[in-house]
Amino acid sequence: MTNKNGTALEAMAGDGGYKEEKYLGNYLRFKMKRDNKRFWAGDNISEYLKEGDKERLIDEATEAFELVLDRLLIDRDNDPNSKGTARRLAKMYFNEIMAGRYETPPDATAFPNDSADRYEGMLVVRSELRSMCSHHHQPVSGVAYIGIIASSKLIGLSKYTRIAQWCARRGTLQEELCNDIAREIQKATGAENLGVYIQATHGCCENRGIMAHSSLTQTTVLKGSFKDDPGTKKEFFDNIKMQQEFAPR
Ligand SMILES: [Zn+2]
Repeated sequence: MTNKNGTALEAMAGDGGYKEEKYLGNYLRFKMKRDNKRFWAGDNISEYLKEGDKERLIDEATEAFELVLDRLLIDRDNDPNSKGTARRLAKMYFNEIMAGRYETPPDATAFPNDSADRYEGMLVVRSELRSMCSHHHQPVSGVAYIGIIASSKLIGLSKYTRIAQWCARRGTLQEELCNDIAREIQKATGAENLGVYIQATHGCCENRGIMAHSSLTQTTVLKGSFKDDPGTKKEFFDNIKMQQEFAPR
């Protein structure tokens, strides 16, 4: 570290006395940089947070959002609707729309699927998604269809959606989100053969830019037999069509 702030923080880290530093957020950024830990909008950084840290980070973000409102020339002292907005925004980012960055992975206990009557069919789960684009922080909403051919273990059905939502509640790109969900489902289930299909609308296209209200984006990630075997691939998309007829969007 060559800059002044970095040197000071490094010294504090050496002393273990970072509580002297005014902003916890600065110290955590310093630590992640030191460890070469990536902390992009779509990355989970829960391993760097201790109990109580989130509350302190919300306080620090509130201060920063107050400055943003001031710079936007919004009278947050007198406008009753804008009075608590900075704190509401800070809480919303940490606890809701970006919660998947700060929360540890959902507990997805796996159950054995290795007895004589093991389930060998395809499983397709439809998960509601709420996400946010990294570029403009606009909402992304849609559904993910997660298909797997179970390996020797199974996870509870609600866990697919929990994992998908944990990946989604960050700043994302739909293409990356699709990959992230596939990777995390693969990790949790050990399945080699799986597919993730996402269909979503983007606030980015609806509320700004091209203002196209009916735009819909589809992304697909296929692994193993979902990719290589046309029969499996067809079965996956047939399942999606059946689910869409049942619960259209
Ligand atoms: Zn965007």
